[in-house]
Amino acid sequence: MDFLAALARSVGADRVQTGDAIPARHHTDWSGAPPVAPLALVRPRSTEEVSAVLRLCGEYRVSVVPQGGLTGLAGAAVPSADAIALSLDRMNAIESVDATASTVTVQAGATLSAVQEAAAAQGLQFGVDLGARGSCQIGGNLSTNAGGNGVLQFGMMREQTLGLEVVLADGSVLPMLRPMLKNNTGYDLKQFFIGAEGTLGVITRAVLRLYPAPRARATALVALTDFDAALALLGRLQARFPRAVAAFELMWRDFVETSLKWQGLREPFEAVHPLAALIDVVGDDEASLRTALEETLGEAMEAGQAGDAAIAQSQAQVQAFWKIREATAELPVHMHPPINFDVSLPMAEIGRFADACRSAFDARWPGHHSLFFGHVGDSNLHISTDGRSIGGQEAQIEALVYERVAAFGGSVSAEHGIGLHRKPYLSASRTPAELAAMRAIKHALDPLHLLNPGKVFDL
Ligand code: FAD
Repeated sequence: MDFLAALARSVGADRVQTGDAIPARHHTDWSGAPPVAPLALVRPRSTEEVSAVLRLCGEYRVSVVPQGGLTGLAGAAVPSADAIALSLDRMNAIESVDATASTVTVQAGATLSAVQEAAAAQGLQFGVDLGARGSCQIGGNLSTNAGGNGVLQFGMMREQTLGLEVVLADGSVLPMLRPMLKNNTGYDLKQFFIGAEGTLGVITRAVLRLYPAPRARATALVALTDFDAALALLGRLQARFPRAVAAFELMWRDFVETSLKWQGLREPFEAVHPLAALIDVVGDDEASLRTALEETLGEAMEAGQAGDAAIAQSQAQVQAFWKIREATAELPVHMHPPINFDVSLPMAEIGRFADACRSAFDARWPGHHSLFFGHVGDSNLHISTDGRSIGGQEAQIEALVYERVAAFGGSVSAEHGIGLHRKPYLSASRTPAELAAMRAIKHALDPLHLLNPGKVFDL
């Protein structure tokens, strides 16, 4: 029997799509990687079905590309013509929320926003938030160890994870769903699968931590003169609001200007400033939180750290401030295509690194369109350049940026992962000994190299 017939017989023909029946969205992800039609799209409904699919793929030596919401920005979920795409989208149940233990148990195909909403319904919150929340899935968030807006307060996906259920390449299931924070019983196996970009196993379920939802939140937009002022302001805020600075999003002028233009928004301040920070602080009471934020920003202005500041007075104003930052969703629409960087650097170096990159871009591609922005409080800087504005010289701009990342002692991927796009540059951030250890783990867990081959590194 051929593989596709065996697959349909094993999990049911309604779980398997081929040829034109595969929706085009499964051919690529948000990275802009060239689309590729997989051999088949398989959409299982249970862990047992995932296990049966992987067992069969092992038997027939067919590769498997796990797919979540396909919002990844590194090309890690892009299929190949000889592989099946394994979508978790039908396994999207929020199985339970335990309000006493502050945990949620979910299937991997649940969207991030579904988890956030389930937590909110119990007066709790989930620690990870990012712009693709409505489409990205928990399995994808875990496999990329996603970060986003809440990292400053709660850490990345890894820090939210108490337990995982994973199906290995041979179809065996690792039921690591124990919901305890403390569990020192040998290797913490679940950690291998977080950030592994689908190369070590398929995540099917997870137990995640939740936190009490804050009763009050205050949002401010602050104009800044330079990066060192931004760092000083962040330090001041963290001292005044310990563990309660929920967001500190930094946007260079190029980003703010472009965002306003694309979205038809008005300048937030009378004067134009080199940088703006979008700040969220949380607490128990809105009025006292706003007063404390006002005082802190007033002190920062007196100290010359802030040029201007506005505190949102209504929910509409909060949304208006955040809309400026969420222009990232518009990148694929307005850039042709966007070339995205997601680097991390020692925090004190970020400003100098951004200046060094911009000067190098200016010298090589005068008139280029590049945007600089980032989460910064967690060492993360993003750069997006319009490919057309640099004559499509993607490889050249990548080499230029990653050379500087290595020189500044940074990482070529802070949160989006390696996938296909950053594979040539992995060695800028990892030593040969580290890469050898990663390959040894891959050989041990996926000896036939069937799980997402060609992603992260070549074997
Ligand atoms: P996919 O893109 O489908 O897959 C990503 C990787 O995970 C692939 O390697 C895939 O094989 C693997 N995978 C998926 N599901 C599973 C599974 N169940 N088991 C094993 N492997 C699996 N990322 C951030 O970190 N921070 C941000 O702030 C952020 N902002 C974004 C904003 C926008 C507008 C967009 C489009 C993307 C943003 N991203 C951000 C990137 C992206 O949303 C995240 O990487 C997200 O975690 C990917 O989830 P996904 O479900 O879409 O995964």
